[in-house]
Amino acid sequence: MTGRLQVCEAQEDILKHTHAILKLASGKELRFVDPRRFGRLSVARAGGFEAGGIEPLEADLDRFLTLFRGRKTPIKSALLNQKLLRGVGNIYADESLFRAGIRPRRRASTITRDQLAKLLASVKGVLREAIALGGSSISDYVDADGEEGFFQLQHRVYGREGEPCLVCKTPIKRIVIAGRSSHYCPMCQK
Ligand SMILES: [Zn+2]
Repeated sequence: MTGRLQVCEAQEDILKHTHAILKLASGKELRFVDPRRFGRLSVARAGGFEAGGIEPLEADLDRFLTLFRGRKTPIKSALLNQKLLRGVGNIYADESLFRAGIRPRRRASTITRDQLAKLLASVKGVLREAIALGGSSISDYVDADGEEGFFQLQHRVYGREGEPCLVCKTPIKRIVIAGRSSHYCPMCQK
């Protein structure tokens, strides 16, 4: 659950946790609703946007490997770091790590080149699947009705705490890393 941007008619009720309202030329309003306050709003001049991390679908392996070199943070945190990679949200990160067989708490710097190659392929696979299934964007953003674009993708670990792993039937575990829920199979992921 992250913040969301909604386009509303100006006369609509203002929801709780609305932190910003921008008036649009059409007379409608763009509202930023963020109950957990993880969001950040910044104003940038056109052309002055800082690009931040790399686009995962365009990343080649060499570029991907350099992101994690020497990084002592858990791989899950590194995946969510938008300064490294753009558009990998909490669900995508959990699902990608499961497919790559890597535990979310593993230190990024300890993961081998082969495993990172597998992870890059997994991230790309998850994002492509989400896009094909109608995810309107490749991040945690939701559409105007508050629906997560990702909802149609069948989660293999995310939100399945205590349920059997689809591969080995071991109950899925949930831990918290940097304040975010992380789900993994203790058997399939090392
Ligand atoms: Zn498993």
